[in-house]
Amino acid sequence: MPFHSSGPLPKIYNEAMKNQALYLVHDEVDYHLVELVIGITTILLYIYAMSSLPSIITSQTDLEQALSIIAKGDVFAIDTEFLREKTYYPQLCLIQIAGNGIHFAIDPLVEGLSLQGLWDLLADERITKVFHAGRQDIEIFYHLTGDVPKGIFDSQIAAMVCGLGDQVGYDKLVHHFLGHTIDKSSRFTDWSKRPLSDKQLSYALDDVIHLEKIYPMLCEVLEKENKLEWIKDEVKVIAALETYAIDPEQTYKRIKLRTNKPLILNRLKHLAAFREIECQKRDLPRGRFLKDETLMDLAATGPKTAEAISKIRGLGSQKNGWLTGQIISIIKQADSADKASWPKMPERKKTERAPAAVLEMLRVLLKHVCEEAAVAPRLIASASDLELLAVSDDKSQPVLQGWRYEVFGKKALAMKAGKIGMALNKGEMRFFDL
Ligand SMILES: [Zn+2]
Repeated sequence: MPFHSSGPLPKIYNEAMKNQALYLVHDEVDYHLVELVIGITTILLYIYAMSSLPSIITSQTDLEQALSIIAKGDVFAIDTEFLREKTYYPQLCLIQIAGNGIHFAIDPLVEGLSLQGLWDLLADERITKVFHAGRQDIEIFYHLTGDVPKGIFDSQIAAMVCGLGDQVGYDKLVHHFLGHTIDKSSRFTDWSKRPLSDKQLSYALDDVIHLEKIYPMLCEVLEKENKLEWIKDEVKVIAALETYAIDPEQTYKRIKLRTNKPLILNRLKHLAAFREIECQKRDLPRGRFLKDETLMDLAATGPKTAEAISKIRGLGSQKNGWLTGQIISIIKQADSADKASWPKMPERKKTERAPAAVLEMLRVLLKHVCEEAAVAPRLIASASDLELLAVSDDKSQPVLQGWRYEVFGKKALAMKAGKIGMALNKGEMRFFDL
């Protein structure tokens, strides 16, 4: 398959020529000549690279060539395909990149192919990386490099202030900005299979080709409407190391808890930490090693003998193996640990219950405000934010600070104080000053 070029060849050419024009301002003619020759050679190399690179890169030379072109731009779109059903760590199967006039996929399954060049690009904060719902991709990069890419932009987050709502899908984003409908039939194919079909490959590349085009459009909205600040908190989370670093001791918090008894929670904490470490060691999905429900049953009953353990569901064939001994000793350890170290469930704050009518009015106001500002409600206030607001005017709550206050908080306070009224007019909601 020929190397894809989405038509920006002339752009690179022009850029390079512009650079040459700048050089001509200098004095030394010889120097210009050398620079000019280098410049033209670079252009020729680009043209050569674009015509000779395959759409799926499997060789080191091709990879370096493609990455060197990307490195000369200031932004690129990136996406990955992976499998995570059979392993603890997601198995990276494909990396797609579009930027600076080219797009290509990298085959990370090729033995001996070094991705160091890509890791360097990811670490380069001068170059923006555009993801769509990048959390899982970033998690993979974190696992492989120990770091989070620098210069992250996430189109799904940006879309939250473009009237597209929360967690908008890539297809919807593409349709909204470019009017295309994308073929999703390859979405759930086996990305570890080789060779990938042309259809799989073009589906995978579409994920970055359109994304690269949408990026400047999203930026325009963010800048024009001054909404960069609005998504800052969300971006911070996906760009933070802590989001991806796993502390086995804390993994019990991911389990849907059915109790708040410290004794049981503490056993669960120890058991979950054990499971996490074992799964990391064996690269096994948590559920394949020990299911959440099994951990809960073990924690709740606290078996101290092999016989007691054999009555727990979900231990399967392992119940007579080494696991039985491990579990018994973990439960013993947990029970004898200093009680001060036992987890406590955050006590339910005994704030007054928000009056239902106030809460309902605030919800309606929030909905109205979000529609007008084309922002996903989650960015402004969660359900518990609203509950707090319903009973308190305390200025320190997030809803009453910064842009949230300007967009929503201010009106909410006015409504609570009886200064704003609500009316319906031909099915449309209207708010007016009283
Ligand atoms: Zn994808």
